[in-house]
Amino acid sequence: MSDTDTRDGEHGLRTPIVAVLGHVDHGKTSLLDKIRGSTVIEGEAGAITQHIGATAIPLDVVSKVAGSLIDPSDFDLPGLLFIDTPGHHSFTTLRSRGGALADIAILVVDVNDGFQPQTLEAINILKQSQTPFVVAANKIDTVPGWKPNEDAPIQQTKEAQSDRASSMLDEKLYEVIGELSDEGFTADMYWRVQDFRGNIGVVPVSAETGEGIPDLLTVLMGLAQRYMKEDMAIDVTGPGAGTVLEVKEEKGFGTTLDVVLYDGTIREDETIVVGGMDDPIVTDVRAILKPRPLAEIRTEDRFEKVEEIAAASGVKIAAPELDRAMAGAPVRVVRDRDIEEVIAEVRAELSEIEVETQEQGVVVKADTLGSLEAIANAMDEAEIPVMRAEVGDVAPRDISVASTANEDKHKTILAFNVDLLADAEQRAEESDVKLFESGVIYRLIEEYEEYVEELERAQQ
Ligand code: GDP
Repeated sequence: MSDTDTRDGEHGLRTPIVAVLGHVDHGKTSLLDKIRGSTVIEGEAGAITQHIGATAIPLDVVSKVAGSLIDPSDFDLPGLLFIDTPGHHSFTTLRSRGGALADIAILVVDVNDGFQPQTLEAINILKQSQTPFVVAANKIDTVPGWKPNEDAPIQQTKEAQSDRASSMLDEKLYEVIGELSDEGFTADMYWRVQDFRGNIGVVPVSAETGEGIPDLLTVLMGLAQRYMKEDMAIDVTGPGAGTVLEVKEEKGFGTTLDVVLYDGTIREDETIVVGGMDDPIVTDVRAILKPRPLAEIRTEDRFEKVEEIAAASGVKIAAPELDRAMAGAPVRVVRDRDIEEVIAEVRAELSEIEVETQEQGVVVKADTLGSLEAIANAMDEAEIPVMRAEVGDVAPRDISVASTANEDKHKTILAFNVDLLADAEQRAEESDVKLFESGVIYRLIEEYEEYVEELERAQQ
């Protein structure tokens, strides 16, 4: 590295962050498990670095799994970091500087089932966030006439390709390609991936047998290397930036944050600014924790402390005063910068996600900032006014707020993916506040609308 390169920090390439999306039961979880499983086998003990909330697969392991498909010397990105929680809920709620936290996505489609409502939802989200993606056409092992091809990656021989050309599998794959084309993408089988911006690669896989996983990793790695390299260039020693995945109580550490760090580094004892429920939280890092390798866990001591960690990684951060931190919120290391500037940066990022409220309306509680925003948008479309929208469990205070509404239909709390604190339940029973709980946005809204209709009928 030349002197000019190091003048304002050390430039380097970080690992691209990958998210898995798709319709329920199409195999997102199984696929992630299989990717982890096959790389653990190929990579031998310790090759996969342990992360919190994410799995890092270094380039040498990717290339071992991919066998003849990848020549590691063609790549200079360090590997792939998979976010462990699949689904577009986590995709939309995890952001970095206004965009999606994930750099690339895998859209899982069950070949037998084709595109389903959540597949289309996922595609819309990917379009909106302009996230490049690969389609994993999953469950090929269940297609009648499927012949396992365990010895070789699927596209390795022309014979294997033509052998498959007549099969039912091929028909199903072309159906998927047709559906992608209905969505405005030109799609093609993965060995002819040319440009992810228009031409989507479709990779036949089985999360059950593992067939196609080498090909999938190859396509992901290829996309990242070819199109995302510039975006992966970071100042590897600069002040860290990340996104909170979860706020969690951890025995011995109090409230901790599970964070995906996508830029720079974070060190023990440094001051950080974290998006909080009222105001940004300024605190000092007490410990940076990583999971211990499985072989080393003998006691309850599940984590090991590290002094410093660099992007991209998933880590747990222990620090005082994190109780009001929010999942989905930004985390920034202050280091040499002016603290007020960093606070302003966090505030600005939070305000992008903020939800508009009215004088009168319902109360909404959600698990993360992103989901709150998604609900607010859906409520806006359904013309349901929101009086208060907050991240967090339903607390007695929320019941009090809801009970102040003028109209009965607004004495309501819509709770998305959150718990009901015990006192809140009692308070709701005592007051005339109606509670709706669901993990599906449109269901919350449907139930609420039905309730309003009932109320109106009763009043007539
Ligand atoms: P998710 O809801 O998208 O995370 O789907 P899951 O990973 O939970 O998978 C749903 C079901 O499909 C489970 O019973 C899996 O075992 C099964 N499954 C997933 N992938 C495959 C596959 O490639 N082949 C077969 N035969 N079954 C699969």
